[in-house]
Amino acid sequence: MAWAIIVHGGAHTIPAEKIEPHNVGCTLAVEAGVALLEKGASALEAVEAAIRVLEDDPVFNAGFGSMLNSEGDVEMDAGLMEGEHLRAGAVASIRGVRHPISVARQVMEKTEHVLLSAAGAHHFAEQQGAELCAPQSMVHEDQRRKWEASNKKRGSDTVGCVALDARGTFAAGTSTGGIMHKMPGRIGDSPLVGLGFYADNSAGACSMTGDGESIMRLALAHRIVQSMQSGADADRAAEEALAVMARRVGGEAGCIVIGRHGEIGQAHNSVHLATAWRTSEMTAAIASVKKQR
Ligand code: ASP
Repeated sequence: MAWAIIVHGGAHTIPAEKIEPHNVGCTLAVEAGVALLEKGASALEAVEAAIRVLEDDPVFNAGFGSMLNSEGDVEMDAGLMEGEHLRAGAVASIRGVRHPISVARQVMEKTEHVLLSAAGAHHFAEQQGAELCAPQSMVHEDQRRKWEASNKKRGSDTVGCVALDARGTFAAGTSTGGIMHKMPGRIGDSPLVGLGFYADNSAGACSMTGDGESIMRLALAHRIVQSMQSGADADRAAEEALAVMARRVGGEAGCIVIGRHGEIGQAHNSVHLATAWRTSEMTAAIASVKKQR
């Protein structure tokens, strides 16, 4: 059966000099997922592997290079889900771990819970032997400079991945440092099932990015998958959900989607959405920092 994978590196306005680094980072992440899907690995494994690459790349606001909260600290949110048994795992406001997405997967696989936060999430990560680090070692100097230059609350460069494996199972995940200058303890859409990501084998999967406080109030990821369940294709489901968000609560967002038949979709109402994707029909990944139409 056919497989497919798409990643995003955030919905926002990407400065000209950052376009190539976004394309390169997203392509490397897709290829990490492809290497697994080609060997018959699960969509969940591909999503985790792709997001780990993006969490290591300081171009993106996830893992190392995350945005700083109002106190200059990195607090990260991440979550993932698989569409066969609707299992999900997530961490919120976690500090001092290298790969929040891997801790999220362990929450899914090793606990009876879906979401752990803050000190409890860190304690669990430690028990599981996750890669720990000093919280300040996750701060990249570019983010520190941006934090000093402006105290505006804003998000960008969040990462996500959606995959369909050869057995027909979907998975989706999202990882972020949230928004710059957020209040300590603020949690966005990214680690919340049905808001920042969703996967259901009967319809498809999706990962969101953008203004968390807007995405959350419309439960956008679930809305998109639900609309595919009712027959919309991936692009239309994504576009309609963003239009509802803009009309009802305002805000900017973007999303990546894979539909029931393996079709790749994406939409955004921000100026750019950094993405890269590949399917089993393609010989190389395509990366794009699509301008809004
Ligand atoms: N949605 C993320 C949040 O609100 C930010 C982003 O996607 O850039 O935490």
